[in-house]
Amino acid sequence: MLKVQIGGVLCVPFEFEVSAADFCGDDFLENGKLVGEIKIVGEVAKDDENLKIRGKIFCQRKFICDRCLNAAEEDQIHDFEEELDSGEIVDNFFDITDIVHDTLMISQPIKNLCKTDCRGLCPVCGKNLNEGSCECEKFIPDPRLADLQNFKPN
Ligand SMILES: [Zn+2]
Ligand SMILES: [Zn+2]
Repeated sequence: MLKVQIGGVLCVPFEFEVSAADFCGDDFLENGKLVGEIKIVGEVAKDDENLKIRGKIFCQRKFICDRCLNAAEEDQIHDFEEELDSGEIVDNFFDITDIVHDTLMISQPIKNLCKTDCRGLCPVCGKNLNEGSCECEKFIPDPRLADLQNFKPN
């Protein structure tokens, strides 16, 4: 439980560090787990009459690239900001576990790419094209592509 103390002062900083394995468990897909420590830093601040909680989550994710099948990792930083409902504050503490968890879940990329311009593997010889090109003839007629070429939108 990541519980933040809500003080009487205007701005209360907080900082947590949790193990990604403990915090996320099996919530993430097999390809694309958060690893190491997840660090959360933020503050509870009073804007006008409302209490707001905001912060940043720092984490690291390991995955297999969809195109070249190499292991890759990326550092992620996610922001969160939410207005606090006084009903959610219990004994001057607010539990940010759900906010952190949800922020992490919705911010994960759909595609796993080691880099945005990953060239992937040669479909003929399987060479990793990021490491150099090969001599293969790439223009193998594919019946599905031929269909697409004949396709004319109405
Ligand atoms: Zn790749
Ligand atoms: Zn090749």
